[in-house]
Amino acid sequence: MTTEVLSVDGGIEKAKKILLLGGIVGMPTETVYGLAADGTNPDAVKKIFEVKGRPIDNPLIAHIHKDFDINTLVYVKNDYVYKLIDAFMPGPLTLVMESKGVVCKEAVAGGDTLAVRMPSHAGCQALLRAVNRPLVAPSANLSKHTSPVSAEHVFHDLNGKIPLILDGGRCSGGIESTVLDVTGSVPRILRAGLITKEMVESIVGACEIAQHKEGDKVKSPGVKYRHYRPKCDTALFDITETDKANALYDRELANGRTPYIMCSDELAEKFAGKNLLLLGRSGEEIAFNLYDKLLEGEKKADIIIAVSFGRCDGVYLGIMNRLSKSCG
Ligand code: AMP
Ligand code: MG
Repeated sequence: MTTEVLSVDGGIEKAKKILLLGGIVGMPTETVYGLAADGTNPDAVKKIFEVKGRPIDNPLIAHIHKDFDINTLVYVKNDYVYKLIDAFMPGPLTLVMESKGVVCKEAVAGGDTLAVRMPSHAGCQALLRAVNRPLVAPSANLSKHTSPVSAEHVFHDLNGKIPLILDGGRCSGGIESTVLDVTGSVPRILRAGLITKEMVESIVGACEIAQHKEGDKVKSPGVKYRHYRPKCDTALFDITETDKANALYDRELANGRTPYIMCSDELAEKFAGKNLLLLGRSGEEIAFNLYDKLLEGEKKADIIIAVSFGRCDGVYLGIMNRLSKSCG
């Protein structure tokens, strides 16, 4: 199979045709690129798991356009859900609720709940509107690899495996959506992202973070897997360990290998004269650059030596979750 890459504007009709015939398509969103299928078609959904090599017990997120009635897909049991929808949708927030079964059981790993998201990316909205069905989509990478934030990244992983990638430019968000369980009286973050605990609290008044302990029944299966890993070696140091990061860098260099340090702009001076993958200054900039720099790094480096940021609040919670899984 040859994989065509079309601009999202020029490719929507072709993508629609493929999707309605049960095929799968790479699509842009504002978080990361997705690999989309018609969520009501079990055979189409199975292709996603096959192509990615994704474990079948890891459910998919259903993507809908702005005017799609969410009540046709899930039971909205708590009134605070509508406040969250008003505040953050379209945007990088995914809500988990009891499914009505319209999206097939293959997409939800046989569970009773469905995760629903309304992407804000204009091209993605246009595609969703054209198809007018819930499109289920995980990130458009091979399972466990770093998530793609450009059409080129998708092409790199899935060339020859899917018929079409819609190119909608570089993703503005850079990490996956916040997954929020809204089946209970207090919303619970299952996966941290750009919609932070603080932002949810500002709307609902309370928000919990799910703790995943060894032996627990996992509420969001995706969090139990190794994820986001670049193809080169990696190491991760705390912000207080820049001397250790420097020492590892020097050892690697002495062994004839090519190391790169990945850190925020603020730490650059601690690694003067070294190969750097700089992530930016603010949390938003770091989220935007993280996967792009990991994917740049795997091409150039034998080892990426990542250094953390000294904080875990706000967006940094989601960033640290991705960084520890990709480099830890
Ligand atoms: P991905 O699309 O690969 O970024 O992963 C989607 C994430 O959402 C994974 O962590 C899934 O486990 C999680 N997820 C999807 N559907 C559900 C659901 N019904 N209940 C809980 N978590 C879900
Ligand atoms: Mg993924």
